[in-house]
Amino acid sequence: MKTAKQIRNEFIDFFKSKNHEFVPSSPIVPIDDETLLFANAGMNQFKNIFLGLTPAQYPRVANSQKCLRVSGKHNDLEEVGKDTYHHTFFEMLGNWSFGDYFKAEAIEWAWELLTGVWGIDKNRLYATYFGGDEPVPVPADEESPELWPKVTDMPAGRVLPFDAKENFWSPGDTGPCGTCSEVHYDMGSGNCDGSRHPGEACAVNVEGCGRFVELWNLVFIQFSRDEAGTLEPLPANHVDTGLGFERICAVLQGKRSNYDTDVFLPLIKMIEKLCQGPAFGFGPKYSPDGSSATDVAFRVVADHARAVSFAIADGVLPSNEGRGYVIRRILRRAARFGRKLGQHKPFLHMLVPVVVEQMGEVFPEIAQRRKQIAETVRDEEESFNRTLDRGIDLFDRVAADADRQLSGAVAFELYATYGFPVDLTQLMAAERGLTVDMPGYEDEMARHREISAAGGGTFQAAAITGLPETDDTAKYETGPVQAKVLGWVVGENFVKQGALGEGAEAAVVLDKTPFYGEAGGQVGDTGRLAWKGGRFDVRDARLVGHCVLHIGVVAKGTLKVGAEVTVQVGASRADAMRNHTATHLLNWALRRVLGGRVDQAGSVVEPARLRFDFTHGQAVTAEQLAEAERLVNERILADEVISARQVPLAEARQIAGVRAVFGEKYPDPVRVVSVGVADPVKDADETSLVEFCGGTHVQRTGQIGFFKIVSEESVAKGIRRITAVTGHEAVRYVQRMDEAVRSASAALRVPVEEIGQRIAAMQKELKGLRKRPAGSGAGGFQADFVVESAAGKVLIGQAEAADAAAMRGLCDVERQKGAAAMMVGAADEDKVTLVAMVSQALVKAGKVKAGEWVQAAAAVVGGSGGGKPTMAQAGGKEPDKLPQALQAAERWIRERLA
Ligand code: ATP
Ligand code: MG
Repeated sequence: MKTAKQIRNEFIDFFKSKNHEFVPSSPIVPIDDETLLFANAGMNQFKNIFLGLTPAQYPRVANSQKCLRVSGKHNDLEEVGKDTYHHTFFEMLGNWSFGDYFKAEAIEWAWELLTGVWGIDKNRLYATYFGGDEPVPVPADEESPELWPKVTDMPAGRVLPFDAKENFWSPGDTGPCGTCSEVHYDMGSGNCDGSRHPGEACAVNVEGCGRFVELWNLVFIQFSRDEAGTLEPLPANHVDTGLGFERICAVLQGKRSNYDTDVFLPLIKMIEKLCQGPAFGFGPKYSPDGSSATDVAFRVVADHARAVSFAIADGVLPSNEGRGYVIRRILRRAARFGRKLGQHKPFLHMLVPVVVEQMGEVFPEIAQRRKQIAETVRDEEESFNRTLDRGIDLFDRVAADADRQLSGAVAFELYATYGFPVDLTQLMAAERGLTVDMPGYEDEMARHREISAAGGGTFQAAAITGLPETDDTAKYETGPVQAKVLGWVVGENFVKQGALGEGAEAAVVLDKTPFYGEAGGQVGDTGRLAWKGGRFDVRDARLVGHCVLHIGVVAKGTLKVGAEVTVQVGASRADAMRNHTATHLLNWALRRVLGGRVDQAGSVVEPARLRFDFTHGQAVTAEQLAEAERLVNERILADEVISARQVPLAEARQIAGVRAVFGEKYPDPVRVVSVGVADPVKDADETSLVEFCGGTHVQRTGQIGFFKIVSEESVAKGIRRITAVTGHEAVRYVQRMDEAVRSASAALRVPVEEIGQRIAAMQKELKGLRKRPAGSGAGGFQADFVVESAAGKVLIGQAEAADAAAMRGLCDVERQKGAAAMMVGAADEDKVTLVAMVSQALVKAGKVKAGEWVQAAAAVVGGSGGGKPTMAQAGGKEPDKLPQALQAAERWIRERLA
């Protein structure tokens, strides 16, 4: 089988033989072209040549252009993953004439390459041309329909007229343009996906039809379009062609999907590998023809990994505007699809080396920047991961109550607080049959811009001057507190007078508060301030010096300086408290299990999870983790009391068994938190759980509910990290795992307890099969064609190795499963092996003999063979033509059975 690399080279070599000069791809970011965010076609870099502004260096050129179609006139983002032939990033192969040859040569050479050099089945090809269309003041193209049957052997009946939408091409609203003639390929009835457009017949240019796919567009550039839409004839006629590289690879490799070619397969395999969770050793698998949510996710992630890598290589960094925001959107979209594959940690950056491996030779810029690309992706993933799950939670809650539409306010909150690009929210909504109120979202956005412009919403915490102190002693209680509004932050200043209207974003300062401002690894609280006729929603709280900033938005009414407000911490604080106390318990348990030398090296406490870093030279074993988890849950079940009190530092340091983080400065008096002893100063001993800590905790361990370790990994030399969940989140986690185990048990058809054994047995079997090349019957056979007949299914496809005995084995297996006939082909470096099987019933019916059938296929690969009516075999000399041979076999048997 030809590799993608060979195919690219053959294209370039073919046009070199027609006196074309090879020109490298231009960067994905167009140089000096503000009309375009990203290169969307091969012609972008030649625009000025077409317009007559720069002279052409060579009259004929061939190239492979990096394209990204995610914005503007050519935007395929929505299709990606749902179908198998639209990508965000792809390569466009092209041949070019700058005022040199025109339609006749363009058509003739396209045909010569496709059918002559590459041997594509002519009966699967169709051509199109511009048939005239009112909105474009250009007459129908009368030459192309005459040229096709004249300069090629394409029958006139397969040359079809279409309107401007299909056959008048331009890069955007303005620029060089002209009519075009396209080549389409019939992928076979197996590719028809009736489910996407029920009731619609497959045909060339039917939207969403996966059977007829456009391969090559021959554009005849003759005009320039200006802003008013007027077409001006250009000084010369040019040819601009675009052949989809990934699509031609699929055709020449005999695959039904671009994702099954060697362009994408290594990525898919890597994603599968990353999905094999450490806990269980299995995860979602990609099924090539599948359209399940997981299959779509595999394709999207593979696609987006390429797009993001190439964009970063060409200098685009994720950001909040322009090109950078497009890349950020793609990356975040990929991260969210990763959640569908069970990826909760950064993983996309691990695909970068695979992209580099695949493409680095042809596009050296990505090999050179591999490190920077991976780091950029990882940083971006990490930062989005911090809010992604909380955003999904919010979305799920709101979506559950919405009947048809999600409000603009929610979409805006997801955007502003959780970093969800609105198109991601739209996508998630669409998955549930909901829409998003976009005008409402735009309104929120506009309001937000006004506020920011007025200086109300944004600030740099470190730079703020004149902040008063907040009394936050109430932070250890969660009950409401009455407080007075002292003012808010505008720009870098603290403002002590005035009012904030509805919708205003601000960082409000109170005289006292129960809010916990982000500090000591525990994230800031969310909640609300309420007053008569009004409400301020707090989405984060930060401690700056001794001042607590309540960051959020006036949801209702007007907030005035001096107002009395009821301050209420939100419900997620309870989750943070569970996680904080559980962190102390985990610290204690690890010391019990791993020994007293274990030291805390950092921790993060959030409502959704806790993360604990500690010093330890090697991986913690599964048994040790299980034991630590058991110990923590023991203490939860014992419902022990937690006490927290201020103790003079000198006295506190004397408490038996006290833990303090090495190198940390503590205030005097210091807050001492203990579990299981009412008074740590009097009652603690060496084995007690006592820590210096300013965080918020539950009153009794029983409130934690349940503790579950999710992962254990290395973060630096000698430092391990445990991530764990408690309460609601732990229940959700266990349910998800339970679901995964159940589906594995169903797929393997064994009880849950036997999954491990079954997989071990399967692995052994697989090893045996790999060692034993001959005579094995099983292994990866997948039919490329399936013909239904009255006698049963006819299967046609490729085997992995050209081993006749193994191939006969495959036929036997399928016969036992009820197949009426089967043809398997396999290609070696220099030969082809074909094996045909026909069931007794079909032979008796007098329709098909294996010998004749195999002969029909063998002829295509320059070989011959024969055998019994039920089983026959042939050899051939042209491995490249195996896909065509199998197509011939399909046609032959279809005719016989008809
Ligand atoms: P389609 O109708 O399939 O979306 P198109 O008309 O948008 O194609 P052109 O703008 O003519 O395509 O681009 C030239 C060639 O580039 C196409 O014939 C196709 O082979 C390939 N191509 C276009 N868009 C994509 C894409 N999103 N992913 C992969 N290949 C593409
Ligand atoms: Mg398109």
